[in-house]
Amino acid sequence: MRLKCQLEIVNHNVASQGLRGGSGKAAQATLFLARKPGDVIFLMYCTAKNKQGIKYKVHKNVKQIFGKCVSEGKATIRLCEPTVDLCVKKANPVDLKRILNCIKLAHNGESISGQMILSSMAPATSKQVEKVKTKLMITERKNYPVSTSFPSTLERLSVNGCQLMRIEGRIIKLKYLTSLNLSNNKIKTLPEQLGSMACLHELDISENELTCFPKELCNPESQLCKTMTCLNLSKNQIELLPENFGEFSQLWSLNLSHNRLKILPKQIGNLKKLTKFNASNNNLKFLPFSFTSLSLENLDLFMNQFTSEMLLPNLSEKRKIFNKPLALLELSARTIRQNKIFYDNYEYVPFILIKYLDKGKVCQCGGYCFIQFIQFFAHVNLQSITQSMCSLDASGRTTAPVQAVICSNKCFFKYVSKDLIL
Ligand SMILES: [Zn+2]
Repeated sequence: MRLKCQLEIVNHNVASQGLRGGSGKAAQATLFLARKPGDVIFLMYCTAKNKQGIKYKVHKNVKQIFGKCVSEGKATIRLCEPTVDLCVKKANPVDLKRILNCIKLAHNGESISGQMILSSMAPATSKQVEKVKTKLMITERKNYPVSTSFPSTLERLSVNGCQLMRIEGRIIKLKYLTSLNLSNNKIKTLPEQLGSMACLHELDISENELTCFPKELCNPESQLCKTMTCLNLSKNQIELLPENFGEFSQLWSLNLSHNRLKILPKQIGNLKKLTKFNASNNNLKFLPFSFTSLSLENLDLFMNQFTSEMLLPNLSEKRKIFNKPLALLELSARTIRQNKIFYDNYEYVPFILIKYLDKGKVCQCGGYCFIQFIQFFAHVNLQSITQSMCSLDASGRTTAPVQAVICSNKCFFKYVSKDLIL
């Protein structure tokens, strides 16, 4: 067995005197145990520069093995003679564990024949010592692989300007991918399977032809919701984002600029880690109330359709609606939605009732309401939620209308500040 890894050789005598014992740079290598005629076992490594390899005796020659981080593919093998440390990184953890066990056995003079097939001392092939490909950038259609597959070790993949119509399954299967950039293509929809990419942190689908974002990708069960930190959907034709978009709990950068959004998801305030937000050049007329609970570093809402005419109504007067007890219809509709009782069944539930239940408004508390609620627009200076922002228009305005829905007296006093009541 030959272990592919990154290897640095450090002289531990020199290093212990405070001097740099190695080159400081790990080389791609293949590390293995080999047997020489006469039954002597050697630990060998080969690199691209030295395919013949360097060999070290193992029997009674291992001073110590530092294997605390084996599960991360890291370990250090300290030899007595010569006084070197073999610092292993980026190895397959299972194979690394096996080779370390065999080194221990060989050091003690025990047989390892049942544990591992020993390699010959033949020089390494080029493939065995070539650097593992982790990045790939394709900017021309003719370079896009059609008959060959993508290297399974890829961590970053960019395919730009290649007229891609969809995201293929073989891209979704790249399980180490942390960054996927498919900007400037012709992608119309995002596949549901994208939600299963366990390592993906950055997704750039800007300059495509998306008209929506699938609600399945915002499912709290999807891997993507737990890992995504940067999402760029700018320069598409998206009109609406799903209500559960606030489930991207790790998202800190979101670019929605140059789309056709008329409203933002009501629960956008749930994106607690969001620091950069850009929704410039859309058709927004107002913002959801939860937007005011964000705490941003950068905000850009330039060129939308925020009006300054929506005035605050007489809230004290409107609030009288809460003095009456809730109607039976209101009470039961609220209960059904609050408890997530399944009602979307045309066989048992009248169509008109399903439509009614669908149209529930969401209060700031997260509760539903249907007819007994108050809704109003408050003008909020957005500078209060961000460290820096672009103005909303050429006149330098920073105040935008925010839509609020309130379901009860309790929520009224909880969410509506005294400044707004007056
Ligand atoms: Zn409420």
